[in-house]
Amino acid sequence: MTQIFCPHCAWKPRPDDLWSCEPRCGHEWHTFDTRGQCPKCRKQWAKTHCPACGKWSPHVSWYHDDPEEIARLERLLDPIEAPRPESAPA
Ligand SMILES: [Zn+2]
Ligand SMILES: [Zn+2]
Repeated sequence: MTQIFCPHCAWKPRPDDLWSCEPRCGHEWHTFDTRGQCPKCRKQWAKTHCPACGKWSPHVSWYHDDPEEIARLERLLDPIEAPRPESAPA
């Protein structure tokens, strides 16, 4: 089963999340409904912005089929396993 989440931080889009097209189009839509294509101006967005971590990733890299990769990325969300800095620089 294909899962959709950010390849950087494993954030999963919810059905009511919206992405904005470029300003002169201004359309807002759920980009994973259309595989990254704006339904108004037909622009194909090769990269998708993650509202959680702020990074842009190739749209195709948001789709995950490999169970091991999914498990690895989902661990990013587990605060117990996340590395902690020993001390913050002054
Ligand atoms: Zn558009
Ligand atoms: Zn992210």
